[in-house]
Amino acid sequence: MKTHRPVTAVTFDVGGTLIEPWPSVGHVYAEVAARFGLEGVAPGALNRAFAAAWQARRPFDHSRAAWQRLVNETFAAAGTELPSDACFNAIYGRFAEASAWRVFDDAQPALEALAARGFRLGIISNWDERLRPLLDKLGLAKYFRSLIVSCEAGHVKPDPEIFLRAAAELGCDPAAVLHVGDNVPEDAGGAQAAGLQAVLIERSGRRGRRSKSAGIAVGPPSRISGYGVITSLMALPASLESAGASLI
Ligand SMILES: [Mg+2]
Repeated sequence: MKTHRPVTAVTFDVGGTLIEPWPSVGHVYAEVAARFGLEGVAPGALNRAFAAAWQARRPFDHSRAAWQRLVNETFAAAGTELPSDACFNAIYGRFAEASAWRVFDDAQPALEALAARGFRLGIISNWDERLRPLLDKLGLAKYFRSLIVSCEAGHVKPDPEIFLRAAAELGCDPAAVLHVGDNVPEDAGGAQAAGLQAVLIERSGRRGRRSKSAGIAVGPPSRISGYGVITSLMALPASLESAGASLI
């Protein structure tokens, strides 16, 4: 990984970058649905339906209403009865719990190492009011000086404004901020358009499973270029020796 300018801050996407749904979106949907009398809904079918609905989502403002539409589309495409409002509310609440997520193995070691090297760390996420408490429950919130969540910022990645806001909160020139995410247009494209540096995380061997189970797949082929690609977040502290230093 090569960066162009000295980096003093690193910002992270959350879903697919630091954490993933666990055991999978479909498993969680099926588990909650069963509590509401929707028995025998196959997690695999829900995962496939969710992945398709997630890829096709446009526009998606990450609001509760948008999520309810997406969940309904998922159940419909999986060929099952739609969840009631109460069932949807339970699904929505379930994903606010730490047990519906897994922190990637490389996330905390990388964050610890970056913090120890003096980098200012931030979050830039298209998410909703559940994110701040979730990061707290997962033990991740403590690493970040700035948390920019789209529902609070009023801007959604790839809008450059959300990236500029993060740089401002971190007290850094945008060019000194490196953004790390798993979505080409939203993360790499948005960051570069705002003048940040960008790195795409592509965990080897995970893409297929991720696109099937979580639906948080890397975006479609794109003409965006000029960003680095890493397969583990541990590549960050390995490449970024100390905040503000010139890099390899
Ligand atoms: Mg993501």
